[in-house]
Parts: sequence; structure tokens; C-alpha cells
Amino acid sequence: MRNRIESFTGSRHFRLHGVADSVVAAVAVPGTGSLANAAIIDLGGTTLVVDTFATLEAAQDLKAAAEHLTGNPVTYVMNTHWHSDHTSGNQVFVPGAKLIATSGTYEMMNTFARDRVAQYQNNREKMLESIGEAELQCGQETDPKLQRELAWENATDREFVNMLPQLVHTVPSVTFDQQMTIHGSNRSAQLITYGGGHTLSDAIVYLPEDKVVVIGDLVLSNHHPVLANANPHEWLSILEQIESLDVETIIPGHGEVCSLRQLQDVKGYISRIITMVTEAVQNQRSIEELTIPEEYRAWYFTTYFKTNLSKVYDLITASEG
Ligand SMILES: [Zn+2]
Repeated sequence: MRNRIESFTGSRHFRLHGVADSVVAAVAVPGTGSLANAAIIDLGGTTLVVDTFATLEAAQDLKAAAEHLTGNPVTYVMNTHWHSDHTSGNQVFVPGAKLIATSGTYEMMNTFARDRVAQYQNNREKMLESIGEAELQCGQETDPKLQRELAWENATDREFVNMLPQLVHTVPSVTFDQQMTIHGSNRSAQLITYGGGHTLSDAIVYLPEDKVVVIGDLVLSNHHPVLANANPHEWLSILEQIESLDVETIIPGHGEVCSLRQLQDVKGYISRIITMVTEAVQNQRSIEELTIPEEYRAWYFTTYFKTNLSKVYDLITASEG
């Protein structure tokens, strides 16, 4: 499959990165309708796609790439978690493919996420207005790295909001708890959940023969992990369980294809945030005074640093109160 990457017409939403003969990562191009990464896995006569991007146009390109690379229609799509940058393209793949997620992700998508999409669809005008305001603010940002990130964010938001009239919220039809395996004629893919860390329920795809894990947002490379919906302590324990698998390559939820080193980085980051907030609370200092530690300053998703601090602050103070 990997040898057909060069003959793919390409997509403005992602670049294809061959990870193994039968595993190709679709790495998001910032500022387009993809936002998150996806993966295409050829199991032999059976194609598994992991995650479906933030817009229908990006998902259509992903489907075309999967069909080109494998020469087959897509058989299964798994959503690693419910966030819209991993699930919005679902409708592009049905009814041809079966959509799979954990029971927890299915529940979230069928309730909270369904309502949220309906709210977005009813508030498009307002959303476009606030994107316009954000674009003006972005022009005044003096830090060049932050300005570039804000410009990407605004461009992606615009594509997302422009797509909303065509979006049909599409939830998985097959669910699993703990684990399920998909067997193709060449290899098997293990769909595994160790519970919820980044969200209420996170799933990974493990390919033992290739020593590859498609990990969703449990690991981001060169990006601040996003703790807004997280259980940080569970997240750390999930990463420890993934470390005990035989893994060499990680396809992260955002950023370039990486290795266990970036998994270690995420563990370090989460622990660091917990320590920083705990010390601030003990010393009765405001978390507003905390700045991004040196080793994370080159990472993207800069604006999530502050929201990560307040999420952990809320968790710490709630458990004390
Ligand atoms: Zn996410």
C-alpha cells in the first residue's frame, strides 16, 4: 500500500506518511479542514480508517486516499474519541463502511455531541461573527508563533462553520468495551480501550506485527496535550499501559508521526501541569502567574496551556472542597 502514496493526487488537508507497508498516516495540514490526524490501515481485503477529520471535504479526500492506496472500499472506520476533529467526517463513510467506537464514545456522541452539533448549526451567524473578531485580533498579535497558530485556528474554524449546513451528525453503529479485533487476510488490528484519559473514553488501534499504535489525542507530538475534558491521573495510567505494549511507532492525534519518546513527553507534561498547579494552590498564588516551561515553548496549541492549568486547578480545588 505504501508504494502507492506517490501516485495519490494529494489533498490540501493532509500529507500521507507511510509508517509500515500496510499503515499510512494522514497528517493534518494546519489551517485546513482536517485539524486532527487520521490513519489508513490495509489488513488484507479489509480496510480500517481511524478518525475522520473536522470537515466533510477533508473526509472525502481521506476516503479517496484510502480507496486509492488499498484498491478497495473502506470496510471499517473507528473513532478514537468523540471530539469533532476526529468524527465530523463520519457521514462520508456510511453506509459503505461500519463505524466503530467504544460504548462510552457512542454515548457521548449520541447525547452531548449531538446536541452540540445542533447548537452549532443554529448559531452559524454568531459563530462567523466571532471568527471575524478573532481574525481582527489575530492581526494585532505581536508574537509571530502565536499569530501563526491563531491564523490556523481561525481558518479551520471558518471551514468548519461553512460546512455545518451539510453536516449530518453520524454516530457509530458498532461498539465495544475493552477490546475487539478485526482480522484481515494479512494482519489483525486490535481496537483497545483502557478507559478515559483525554476524554471520558479513549480508544487506540494496536498493530502488533508492525509495532504501531494509532493513539488519538492520548499522545500529541510537539503540541500541548488538551486537558479540557480530561482525567489527568487516568490519562497517565493509560499511557503506562500502552507503554507495556510492543510499540515502536505512534500515529498521534496531532503533529508528526512519532515514537515512545513523545509518549514520555506527554506524561512529563501532564505531571508537570499537576505539580505547577498544586504548588500554586499550596502557596496561595494565582495560576495566572504561571508561564509555559521552557521545554514546551516551541510546542503548538499554545493557547491550551492556560485552559489546561484551569482544568487541573478546578479538579484540585473541587477535590479539596
Ligand atoms: Zn481530542
